[in-house]
Parts: sequence; C-alpha cells; structure tokens
Amino acid sequence: MPKLQGSRVIAVTGGAGFIGSHLCETLVAAGHQVVCIDNFYTGSRANLGSVLEAPGFSLINHDIRNPLPDDLPRFDEIYNFACPASPVHYQADRVRTAMVCALGALHTLRRAARDGARLLQASTSEVYGDPEVHPQPESYRGCVNPVGPRACYDEGKRFAETLVTDFGAQAGLAVKIVRIFNTYGPRMQVDDGRVVSNFIVQALRGQDLTIYGDGSQTRSFCFVDDLVEGCLRLMGSPPVLSHPVNLGNPVEITMNDLAHCVLELTGSPSRIVYRPLPVDDPRRRRPNIDLARTSLRWEPTVPLRAGLQRTIESFARRLQTSEFDGATGETPVAASA
Ligand code: UDP
Repeated sequence: MPKLQGSRVIAVTGGAGFIGSHLCETLVAAGHQVVCIDNFYTGSRANLGSVLEAPGFSLINHDIRNPLPDDLPRFDEIYNFACPASPVHYQADRVRTAMVCALGALHTLRRAARDGARLLQASTSEVYGDPEVHPQPESYRGCVNPVGPRACYDEGKRFAETLVTDFGAQAGLAVKIVRIFNTYGPRMQVDDGRVVSNFIVQALRGQDLTIYGDGSQTRSFCFVDDLVEGCLRLMGSPPVLSHPVNLGNPVEITMNDLAHCVLELTGSPSRIVYRPLPVDDPRRRRPNIDLARTSLRWEPTVPLRAGLQRTIESFARRLQTSEFDGATGETPVAASA
C-alpha cells in the first residue's frame, strides 16, 4: 500500500482484542496505516467492526509466539498488546501465557530492531502483585508470588519489561513500557471473567452478581478511551522516557461499591452473592500517576459512572442482538439513562 503523507505504518499485536481494537480504531481515524496482528485467542473480528473496511487497515492472523512474517511492511511503530489479560483466560493455559509474554516481546523487539521502529510494550499493574505500597508508584518493585496461579501473567509481564529494557538499550531502540491498571469499556468479552463485565452481564441478565471474597478489596478502573490516549502520548514521548509508566484511573473503589453502582445504573433486580476469593487476589490496587501527569500531561477524563453507563449500553445492545445470549433465551434488563 502507498504511504500517505504524514501517516505512519503501525503494527498492533493483539489488535483484535479489547484494548487493541480501540487502539487500532483511533490510529486508523488519525490517518495511519495499521497492521493488526492477532490470532483470535481472545480477540475477534467483531471487535474491529467498520475498521476492517477502512483504507490503510489490514489484519493478519498470526500467533506472536512465532516470529513475525517476513513480508510485512517496514513499521514505524509497534504496539505489543497481544496477551490474554483476564485471570480466567490467562490461567486457562498458563504455559502458553508465559510464552506469549516472553516470545511475543522477543519477536516484536526483533522486528522493531530490523525496521528501526519504536516499540511500546503493554505491561500491567500485576507487576506489583499484592502490593505492600499503596498507591503504587513505578518505583515500587512489587510483591508477586512467582509460582502462584497468577504468576504466568505477572512474571511473564515482568520478564517482558526486562527484555524490552535490555534489548532496547543494547540495540539502541526507542522503547516504551506502559503499566496498565484495570481498564474497562465497550468490547470487553461477555465471558471475559473480569469484574466489570461480569457484574454488567449478570445485572443485564437478571442473574446474581458474584462478589469474590467479602467485597472489601479495591481496584481503580480506567475507561478504555482514556487508556488509549495515554498510550498514544507515551509512544510519542521523547526517547529518554524508556522506563515504565503507570496508566490508570486513581479513583479507587471496593467491589461491594462497584456491584451496587452497577445495580443502580442498570436498574436491575439482581441480588448480590458472595463466592470464595481466588488465590493471590490482590487486596488493593490504585495507581500513582504522577509520572504520567508530568511527563505525558495525561490524566483520565471519564468518571467511573459515565464510563460504566457507556459500557452498560454497549453490553445491552449486544445482548439484545443476541450476539451471545441466544442460548439462554433470557431477556436483558434495559440499561437506565
Ligand atoms: N471479582 C469479583 N467478581 C467477579 C469477578 C472478579 O468480585 O465476578 C473480583 C476479583 O476477585 C478481584 C476484582 O474483582 O478482586 C477484580 O478482578 P478482575 O478479574 O476484574 O481483575 P484483576 O484481579 O486482574 O485486577
């Protein structure tokens, strides 16, 4: 494809996933040529919607545990977002998850070196594990169980951070590492298993909302549009900013309060039930985003209730079109305004 004036050629691995698809959409809208690389393990073509037909967009079915195909265009930028991110999905095949983190980083780094591309590695707040420091600044080294059920993801991402840092320094690449805190929004999978999608789907279906543990654990939820904006700013930041940067919304909420908020916004008659807390489930999580504020001039703009409302509307539309609800035949509860 001919390169347009001012546009860049950008690879997004995991581009058919939840965050990746929003990223592709934003990059295409800005006039860039985007090559989405995905093996549809947790992503889907449906996530890409109208972007699939956009000029300058192409989609490649590829597993980044294998080297990237030779015949791809020369990339200016590579966003490495390919990895299952929900505990349910990343624990389904833990060895695979660890290898996606390790080999995916290696293969995208090698391509960045070949092309002279910038690389942005999607890391995670999970590198902090069950944190003893609260809120978590980038300087905190974390408290991760290296052999627990979350380790394939936590340690996989920690290793990816190491590899990106060392490979970037040795090869003289401009590399970026974003530590993504809990992110939510339209296009989360119905069976994603994470708390926001679970609560919303349960509320819309009139099913019990499942709180794990006593519901006093906290998370801080960032709307996906805010996260994408932060990633774009990080990719465009000066090469000297090569160390990890937290992106997330510092407004912290307990799972009990989140459940009540979803019930209120959906107007659902669902009840709340309590289920066992998963092993190694972090007690608290909240980003310190001072670095993003000062170096990227970024901070979240979408309040939780507004973001939840948009997410609920999106799930309600999908439920009504029976994209995934046909089997149960349940009637979704309409999202309230
Ligand atoms: N959680 C819950 N009910 C659910 C799913 C998750 O109470 O149906 C809890 C989970 O135990 C954790 C929090 O919600 O304490 C966030 O879980 P999630 O899987 O969304 O993200 P992560 O644990 O990776 O931050």
